[in-house]
Amino acid sequence: RKAVLEVRELETTFFSDSGKVAAVDRISFSIHEGEILAIVGESGCGKSVTSLSIMGLVPSPPGKITNGEILLKGQDISKLSDKQMRKIRGNEIAMIFQEPMTSLNPLFTIGNQLIEAIRIHHPKWSKKEASARAMEIMKLVGLPRAEQLLKDYPHQLSGGMRQRVMIAMALVCNPKVLIADEPTTALDVTIQAQILKLMRDLNERLNTAVLLITHDLGVVAETCERVIVMYAGQIVEEAPVNEIFKNPQHPYTKGLIQSVPDMRYKKDTLYSIPGNVPKPGSILEGCRFAARCEYAFDRCLTNNPPLYESSGTHKARCFLLDMEEGGVTHVESAAES
Ligand code: SF4
Ligand code: MG
Repeated sequence: RKAVLEVRELETTFFSDSGKVAAVDRISFSIHEGEILAIVGESGCGKSVTSLSIMGLVPSPPGKITNGEILLKGQDISKLSDKQMRKIRGNEIAMIFQEPMTSLNPLFTIGNQLIEAIRIHHPKWSKKEASARAMEIMKLVGLPRAEQLLKDYPHQLSGGMRQRVMIAMALVCNPKVLIADEPTTALDVTIQAQILKLMRDLNERLNTAVLLITHDLGVVAETCERVIVMYAGQIVEEAPVNEIFKNPQHPYTKGLIQSVPDMRYKKDTLYSIPGNVPKPGSILEGCRFAARCEYAFDRCLTNNPPLYESSGTHKARCFLLDMEEGGVTHVESAAES
């Protein structure tokens, strides 16, 4: 499968009077056609800043992309002007967020907003053609009684339906990449499962690549093929989803899996990783997870481990992998601070 989006050595820095912080610290990954890739991590790990960087929506100032490339079908979109980027957004790349209430205009009906979006994309279409397309997309995202719904205002819909409308809006342009940042976090569990199923169905039918940003490994297990775990701005593990649950290699990933509230993966009581994510700007040297890691040893306190590759598809940033026999190779040089 071809890579649709390739992120290379991306660094996004936030500047303030007290200094600068790399919220995203030289991460590299790619998403392939028709693939669902998850980025998972706790709040503050850099996953949302990653998605904003791809969308060209990093608040600037104080934020700025300070290194790397974001290649969309080979074109580096990280260097485009705001005007050029507006064309990419909502055409090539679309995004859905956690709380659809904030991205839908409360003053206009669903129909107004959807048809408007369609007509921006197809300026030559008549209102009738746009309405027909609106009905079609509503059906595609599993919204019943489309005719009535188009006349409703956002507050008249349930949270799950609003999220379906947002997905419908995102699909208007037939994006190559759909970025979903915590798309189901605000929804209850049943609705969450339905929305995730919808995203899987659409991904299959339309072959759209999906980048799913979430703090919830349970969501990842149900939806994705491949997963990237981020911690303190860095990728700490990357693997196919079944492998990460069967054979997590980074102690942080192990902790995340233990804390998934799902009978299939948890022990008797719900586990939570002790300690906190390092405060931005406080990272000086060593492994960023060391303060919370039960396996930490001398070397972890002075050197930041590189990503070690344990198989063609599995990498983890932990010195424990360096001591294992056979097959483990460096994929980047150790970043000493
Ligand atoms: Fe823990 Fe050391 Fe591995 Fe970091 S490198 S995760 S501190 S064992
Ligand atoms: Mg976030």
